[in-house]
Amino acid sequence: MALVSMVELLDKAQKGKYAVGAFNCNNMEIVQAIVAAAEAEKAPVIIQASQGAIKYAGIEYITTLTKLAAEKASVPIALHLDHGTSFAQVMQCARHGFSSVMIDGSKHPLEDNIALTNKVIEAVRHLGISVEAELGKIGGTEDDITVSEREALFTDPEEAEYFVQKTQVDALAIAIGTAHGQYKGTPKLDFDRLTQIRERVSTPLVLHGSSGVPEDALREAISRGVCKVNIDTNIREAFVFAARQALEGNPKEIDPRKMLGPAREAATKIIQEKIRIFGSVGKA
Ligand SMILES: [Zn+2]
Repeated sequence: MALVSMVELLDKAQKGKYAVGAFNCNNMEIVQAIVAAAEAEKAPVIIQASQGAIKYAGIEYITTLTKLAAEKASVPIALHLDHGTSFAQVMQCARHGFSSVMIDGSKHPLEDNIALTNKVIEAVRHLGISVEAELGKIGGTEDDITVSEREALFTDPEEAEYFVQKTQVDALAIAIGTAHGQYKGTPKLDFDRLTQIRERVSTPLVLHGSSGVPEDALREAISRGVCKVNIDTNIREAFVFAARQALEGNPKEIDPRKMLGPAREAATKIIQEKIRIFGSVGKA
């Protein structure tokens, strides 16, 4: 089938109290792994590409691979821009056939974030493209800040209500204690805050930086209303560890397929595990 709009997948997930996995791709093997995992679990899925992925692979490769994968697949697939930061970049993705975009205006003051988000919504909603925004700041695990400094960046429930009233955005990424990259310890999520946000906001909520968040915490977040969960780092780890193992086991190997094949299989396996945790098995 053709790529579907993300909002369609998230509305169903919200009603069904599960989450749709949003998995980052960088190359053909990872696109194939995401689709193979979704097919095996009969789950809807979001393939997402960051600015870095687009720069690495080229936007035409990302869209062509993903559209082909969607056409051949029996499960619904959305193609989403992860952390778009400029209007021009979002429009480039819209022109190339992305079915969803994130405009991350979280580094701007609130009113500027609202204005940027609305500019994007006005430009792409009539094309059937969904829009995710971010409120609060989801940092990186490498950011050298204390826990209290990080908490100051968490999403304010009242602000979330105001933001959604002013933008009518399709999905909202919130900061409740997750971060991008590999965690040094175990992340602690602010579930009370999540519940407070959910009580004020009916928009589908998105959890970024979810690799390395323990399974029970992911389930808890989903039960409290998160319906899109982003996974990138766990795929990188699985892919690269498997590729490295394949090479270490046979230093004379020169066939890239002997390295990329096991990497693709390892990525498929971890994505299937996540889909099961998210509760989206059989929801395609
Ligand atoms: Zn993110």
